[in-house]
Amino acid sequence: MTDDISPAPIVEITGVRELGHDLVVVPNRNVDLVPNIGVIGGSHSVLIVETGLGPRNAQKVLAFASEYANGRRLYLTTTHFHPEHAFGAQVFAGEATYLVNRAQADDLTRKGEGYLAMFRQLGESIAEELQDVRPVAADQTYDGSRELDLGGRTVRLRPTGQGHTKGDQVVEVPDAGVLFTGDLAETGQFAIFPWFPPYDTDVSGIRWISVMERLAAEAPQVVVPGHGDIGDAQLLADVRDYLRELRDETWMRRDSQMSEDTIAQEVRALMIDRHPQWRLPEWIERGVSCLCAEHTAHGSRPAG
Ligand SMILES: [Zn+2]
Repeated sequence: MTDDISPAPIVEITGVRELGHDLVVVPNRNVDLVPNIGVIGGSHSVLIVETGLGPRNAQKVLAFASEYANGRRLYLTTTHFHPEHAFGAQVFAGEATYLVNRAQADDLTRKGEGYLAMFRQLGESIAEELQDVRPVAADQTYDGSRELDLGGRTVRLRPTGQGHTKGDQVVEVPDAGVLFTGDLAETGQFAIFPWFPPYDTDVSGIRWISVMERLAAEAPQVVVPGHGDIGDAQLLADVRDYLRELRDETWMRRDSQMSEDTIAQEVRALMIDRHPQWRLPEWIERGVSCLCAEHTAHGSRPAG
């Protein structure tokens, strides 16, 4: 395993940002496979958003949140089933009530073990954090969206429908104008397309665009992305626009019968040129592959 990422995917409780009254984020410091983690308080309860990768990271998150809660009841939710967002949930058993939407629970059931095996191949520091992981089911699974009363503050857990995964949900704190998006939005990097045929083809570029159109139209004041710096509604518009560009540039070439390899090369060069500051360009090709498959499935555009 030489393909390790650097630095290691370790949650550090540092630089904690206060985004509003009784609402903080532990920022990911732009470290890959570390998510932005939210802690949202009400008079009697506190909601934690995301666990970090594996039980050791989750232990830190739990310790921080418990101290922050200072006796208030703890809830946990995750934006989607991916390992750095949800594969520390076992640590919260008996400490916090874990809530997720139905489609996310289904994703974990179908793909949790596969992702665990895949992530363990990504590098030593990742495999180390994933030792002793047991993907655990939520304590409560809801259909539709869920309003969670924290005491004087209601948080909305809102599944978006298929986008980055089948089971994405956003977490909205209406009184603070804050939206946690999970990996539907990232700052300063190319959108993550977990397109790994034949194992996982659940990401949908087309549906993701629709999700971002809706979220951007809501214009939240503060947007906490899955990874990268905290932003505002502009971040949602930027991701929406990038996904549209990726679709249009891919489909235009597909219409003219270009091979997928050539499309990927050309679109990659074009996107890097348009977004020279963005990290992780390897996700562009996977996005192109996903959109090529959706172009075929779409079938509405005449070739040539
Ligand atoms: Zn993800």
